[in-house]
Amino acid sequence: KNILAILGFSSIIAVIALLAVGLTQNKALPENVKYGIVLDAGSSHTSLYIYKWPAEKENDTGVVHQVEECRVKGPGISKFVQKVNEIGIYLTDCMERAREVIPRSQHQETPVYLGATAGMRLLRMESEELADRVLDVVERSLSNYPFDFQGARIITGQEEGAYGWITINYLLGKFSQKTRWFSIVPYETNNQETFGALDLGGASTQVTFVPQNQTIESPDNALQFRLYGKDYNVYTHSFLCYGKDQALWQKLAKDIQQFEIQGIGNYQQCHQSILELFNTSYCPYSQCAFNGIFLPPLQGDFGAFSAFYFVMKFLNLTSEKVSQEKVTEMMKKFCAQPWEEIKTSYAGVKEKYLSEYCFSGTYILSLLLQGYHFTADSWEHIHFIGKIQGSDAGWTLGYMLNLTNMIPAEQPLSTPLSHS
Ligand code: AMP
Repeated sequence: KNILAILGFSSIIAVIALLAVGLTQNKALPENVKYGIVLDAGSSHTSLYIYKWPAEKENDTGVVHQVEECRVKGPGISKFVQKVNEIGIYLTDCMERAREVIPRSQHQETPVYLGATAGMRLLRMESEELADRVLDVVERSLSNYPFDFQGARIITGQEEGAYGWITINYLLGKFSQKTRWFSIVPYETNNQETFGALDLGGASTQVTFVPQNQTIESPDNALQFRLYGKDYNVYTHSFLCYGKDQALWQKLAKDIQQFEIQGIGNYQQCHQSILELFNTSYCPYSQCAFNGIFLPPLQGDFGAFSAFYFVMKFLNLTSEKVSQEKVTEMMKKFCAQPWEEIKTSYAGVKEKYLSEYCFSGTYILSLLLQGYHFTADSWEHIHFIGKIQGSDAGWTLGYMLNLTNMIPAEQPLSTPLSHS
């Protein structure tokens, strides 16, 4: 009887033990993730991006993704030059949002970077002292948060181009050594050839791509990378004052003789007028974009993002099936619509943007066709993209990957037991 009782007791213990093992095995392990924050201080606005990735896969390609974008309310930081004391409040909402999104235990090890682009490049050209004052106050404000603040600086046009190129190719899986038999995005060609990057901001625009066996004739336009065991010779240029707001300013400044400019809704005339912005009368290289800037022959597919995307999205022209001729035809129609009609048709759209879409769409066509020499055929290789797998296309992700050493020069050795 005793032996039976003991057997019974031990089997209960065994069942409990098995249950316990089962339960612990099913229990989710604590998430081993890391976070990073990048603020894009653009000419017209500031956006804060939060990225997340599994800590143990840091050097794999494609593992970092965006978990949040917070658009700071108000203009770009360069507009605070006469009211620097308001910068702290301006940044509060989005920094508080970051505090909520990122678990408290991770705050101290989460790096924060702020990169300012062409709006601040222009302010620095006007006055280095004023630009420094703005950046100092930005730095002081961002140091007040519990994160690991790494500094605020004006990035160069070359960096802006390079990091935009890295971002899209990282997200498209172009740096991965494994060839996938399936496609993660509709326009992904299943090869390792990188996409070029076309970025349009308010104050500058960047063009970056790997030319085919072509020497880059001007050293300022040449970048050399070794990423995941492969060498890349990349062409990049940033055209300052050719972002869409600055281009409009240039146009208005050139054309204003009296004190008023009246739009007449004629696409062709608008297009001809915009072409005056591109000086193609001289070129000290074998070929140029405009203003004497070297541009090698275009090569491969291109991702066009930021304002290229916002404008084309609004105009309903981002589909892969829309030819360049069709885009031009649609622009003619859009520009010819009376303003009152436009306002009623798009009642929910910000009037400032709405009033500029005819100019913006025409400018985009002019820049791509006459500025960069895309043709009706090569137009098919331009993909207007906002996000790739949930992460925004733009320079910020590439910037963070580089500063946190997450893009190794050599292909990391994969261990036999790795879960990749
Ligand atoms: P930046 O602030 O320099 O990054 O420039 C962003 C550019 O995108 C500016 O020219 C903005 O006016 C423009 N932009 C942002 N959102 C939209 C939108 N929804 N429609 C049109 N343009 C936009």
